Amino acid sequence: MSVPESSTSTLPGKKNLSEVVLAWYDQSARDLPWRVRGQGTGRASTNEIYRIWLAEIMLQQTTVKAVIPYFEKFVTRWPTIRKLAAASEFEIVTAWAGLGYYARARNLHACARIVVDRYDGRFPDTRSELLQLPGIGHYTAAAIAAIGFQRCETVVDGNVERVMARLHKVTEPFPQARRTIRRLARTHTTAHRPGDYAQALMDLGATICRPRKPACPVCPCQDMCGAWASGLQHELPMPKRAGRRPTREGLVYVGRRRDGAWLLERRPRKGLLGGTLGWPGSEWVIGDPQHSPPCEGRWRTVEGVVRHDFTHFRLHLVVLVAELPNSVRPNAGRFVAPEAFDCRELPSLMRKVAEHARSDPCWLTTAGRSADRSEAAKPASTCGA
Ligand code: SF4
Repeated sequence: MSVPESSTSTLPGKKNLSEVVLAWYDQSARDLPWRVRGQGTGRASTNEIYRIWLAEIMLQQTTVKAVIPYFEKFVTRWPTIRKLAAASEFEIVTAWAGLGYYARARNLHACARIVVDRYDGRFPDTRSELLQLPGIGHYTAAAIAAIGFQRCETVVDGNVERVMARLHKVTEPFPQARRTIRRLARTHTTAHRPGDYAQALMDLGATICRPRKPACPVCPCQDMCGAWASGLQHELPMPKRAGRRPTREGLVYVGRRRDGAWLLERRPRKGLLGGTLGWPGSEWVIGDPQHSPPCEGRWRTVEGVVRHDFTHFRLHLVVLVAELPNSVRPNAGRFVAPEAFDCRELPSLMRKVAEHARSDPCWLTTAGRSADRSEAAKPASTCGA
């Protein structure tokens, strides 16, 4: 493959791929909190589809391990789509803090409201209708249609791409290989238990045909696998040539008033970390960021930088800290009393900044002095920046 020796999608072996992976799945499926088991060819219930959708949105760009606690938190707090739609966007973005890619949280809320208002709380059951909803792209629409509604859709995530690339020995590098892999994946899609088949392939990719160290000796597809037959299982799929991500620089200001209140700001709804709570700061730019403190004060630079990777760039943030007089008037953000602020509501980048500020010995000394002067100046129990 490229599409290798021949352009056929037929794999060696007596059985077809879906039969093999479904038999394996019946014995070895992962136990995941959003999973609907034993549905065979039936549609999932309205509430099961709500959970499938919620999980699929959370799983975009995020690992299963990271998603599980957030999923549990969301379904406990908002057990139905109607309850989620009735919440405010602020509540949802705040509960999402730490999961990243915050546009997903805003789209989740917008989607819930549309499903309740336009579809009486039931998701539409075709891929094309699902695609009209906020936050639902081609992969997610296919996954919900197959898993929730037993539609015969081809569901291709990163796990499935890897399994297909290896089974069919696709030697074309990414991203060009994607088109070939999707075409090959379509040839295996089955109308028999399409939801289970989609999940079976994902589970196979996650637990057996892993990115590193694929467990070929115990793989149910071993006798039909082109990569295994050629000893290429560790080389495939072919990675794309590494491109260098640019590095952006920024300044961020961690300020605390003498009465213990923290200076925080909510980021604009659009853009990176949109709608989340954080410390005020400069633009993130290539080159030198502009020093623009949110208020007057004796801002002091903490040694070192906070590093954070976004998909398209790396970020280096220089952290400045200051203890501020109670009379100060900020030109950005607002002061939040320590008892009204929980550091866990911050996205992970802003938590890293808090942690970095706390590493500054002078900052801790200053905080200690302020605490001596006023009982109210105690640092927030959940954020000791
Ligand atoms: S035999 Fe190995 S490379 Fe092939 S599908 Fe199974 S785990 Fe993946």
